Amino acid sequence: MPLSEFALIERYFRTRGAQRADVRLGVGDDAALLQVPPGCELVAATDTLVAGVHFPPGSPPASIGHRALAVNLSDLAAMGARPAWALLALTLPEADEAWLGEFATGLSDLARAHEVSLVGGDTTRGPLCITVQLLGHVPAGEALRRGGGRAGDVLFVSGTCGDAAAGLAIEQGQLAAPPDARDYLRERFLFPTPRVALGERLRGFASACIDVSDGLLADAGKLASASHVGAELAYADLPLSEPLPAALGERRARELALGGGDDYELCFAVPPQNIARLLAQLPPQEWRYTRIGVLRAAPGAVVVSDGTVMEFSHSGYEHFL
Ligand SMILES: [Mg+2]
Repeated sequence: MPLSEFALIERYFRTRGAQRADVRLGVGDDAALLQVPPGCELVAATDTLVAGVHFPPGSPPASIGHRALAVNLSDLAAMGARPAWALLALTLPEADEAWLGEFATGLSDLARAHEVSLVGGDTTRGPLCITVQLLGHVPAGEALRRGGGRAGDVLFVSGTCGDAAAGLAIEQGQLAAPPDARDYLRERFLFPTPRVALGERLRGFASACIDVSDGLLADAGKLASASHVGAELAYADLPLSEPLPAALGERRARELALGGGDDYELCFAVPPQNIARLLAQLPPQEWRYTRIGVLRAAPGAVVVSDGTVMEFSHSGYEHFL
């Protein structure tokens, strides 16, 4: 590698991200020293993106940098936590400075937007692979979990579902769409929006929360199972963007909203006694979330249309992807 590891980190990452007073010692020593606010618990998440597995080879470098941090921000959002510090482990086939510059911009723009400071890193030569570890904090005892839901709690999801899976299919040349829809859906895959502010605000309202990375039906099912209950989703209530049915038609759009991954929205349960307060303090039009169903005693996750349970299998969308 023409640039030494130290020079790489210095050049691209030392001054990237936010500057925070609680970073006692950042990049440059053997480890970082970070000050967790009094009365808070440390929250930690990590995710690895591998070229050809988690993103198509040749993806825009800024998107890879953005997504590497966004997927971790989404995990902290699902815990109701505030992100603060990130560490980056970067494996690169070569030190391509143009690529590195764009990658660092994608990552650091999102880091600054969420006041996240990059406090450490490691670089290695090998097939392209990015691991980000994200640390944050939450008031002790207040973190949201998957396991707090009860039968009768109302299920909501933020944003719209299925867009990122359609965007990935477009990226891979497997789906054609009208130009406007194509641009929107690609953007939703390449630059997902982690719902960090919503996650923090849901503390005190939600009984359980998960971020939607593997598909709404699967992830609502995980929340329900961790809560020892089941989930019932209303087919007609799934939130769709305008471009998704424009690209796929209504039926396939709803299938993708249930089964497509990579949306990084929040799916959360709210006890009936908290609903009025939630709707008043976090107006759905402003915070962009939609009621999609309920938790119920019977286990499993089902989709209901016109009062009957739909037979929904993954083959419903796999045949066209
Ligand atoms: Mg997650």
